[in-house]
Amino acid sequence: MSINESKIIVCPHCQHEQTIQIWQSLNVSLDKDAKKDLFEGKINLMECQKCHQKTLVPVPLLYHDPARKYAVQYYPTSIIRNEQFLSQFKIDGTYAGDQDIQLEAPDYMRRLHIVFNMNELVTYIVFREVLADYHLTGKVMLN
Ligand SMILES: [Zn+2]
Repeated sequence: MSINESKIIVCPHCQHEQTIQIWQSLNVSLDKDAKKDLFEGKINLMECQKCHQKTLVPVPLLYHDPARKYAVQYYPTSIIRNEQFLSQFKIDGTYAGDQDIQLEAPDYMRRLHIVFNMNELVTYIVFREVLADYHLTGKVMLN
């Protein structure tokens, strides 16, 4: 499933408040339009109505593609030194995760690829799509 909700965000440049749609989870099978927005850098981006500055809202975003069976998790870099965040991982960088939750999740969710940059998120999605197409057709798609 996808998780998105409207939230009031304060512009860090002029303190203007406005409501924007915040995505925390994006299932591309259900929300193809949101993928287009992601590729155009519009997901979780606040474009201030008052001062017109653009600010990426620093919230984690899970992108998953059930058809190609992979998931990518974006985390804002500011979270790296957060103890609660660190406690979710083993020393090898894999999720320490609750066993019960893991059993319910599809297998590919356990091999979550983690990125700390929205551009890398998009690049990884392109990589997995080109890779899947290459293995299915034997050809490298150009676009
Ligand atoms: Zn502003």
